Amino acid sequence: MTTPAEASAAGGWVGGWLSTARHCPSPNFGPRPEGAHIDLIVLHSISLPPGIYGGPEVEQLFSNQLDWQADPYFEQIRGIEVSAHFFVRRDGELVQFVDADARAWHAGASRWRGRENCNDDSIGIELEGLEGDRFEAAQYDTLARLCRQLALRYPVTHIAGHEHIAPGRKIDPGPGFDWPRLQSGLAEKKFVFPAEVAHRPPLDS
Ligand SMILES: [Zn+2]
Repeated sequence: MTTPAEASAAGGWVGGWLSTARHCPSPNFGPRPEGAHIDLIVLHSISLPPGIYGGPEVEQLFSNQLDWQADPYFEQIRGIEVSAHFFVRRDGELVQFVDADARAWHAGASRWRGRENCNDDSIGIELEGLEGDRFEAAQYDTLARLCRQLALRYPVTHIAGHEHIAPGRKIDPGPGFDWPRLQSGLAEKKFVFPAEVAHRPPLDS
């Protein structure tokens, strides 16, 4: 007999924390509404300062440790309290900020598959990048693996970008994200993708 706890552990899960991720706990989260049906993965892109990769600033932002005076851009976001469940770095490293059972603060005003407030019942994944920039092969590999692991614990069926759930307000992950590449990496999983990206040709490499 396999207990539910052992089954979870087998998928790499200890509660809502993935043991294969580096943990960087964020204080920016809250409880999900009772009975939340976590069926959506939301993809984002972020880099701080924008377009600069490899530094500690994103992790500092999500843990409320960013020095707002360290870069002129940071004045524009001074004081914001945000988070995502996961962050995939350019080299494919996976960082987790928030227990996936809890509600992270990544989507803001949003609507998808007929439901508002996507933070309530989604998992937020940030890719280190910039809208319009390409992403790295290692990031697609980590992302596909993460989506599969999420599907072991949560009833996730939909994957969409922030640009799809908050159109007109957000543009990430942007045109440099190769949706067909992610789709082909998850071909066996039957995730539902936004109609506008489902039949897009792959980006030229
Ligand atoms: Zn976003």
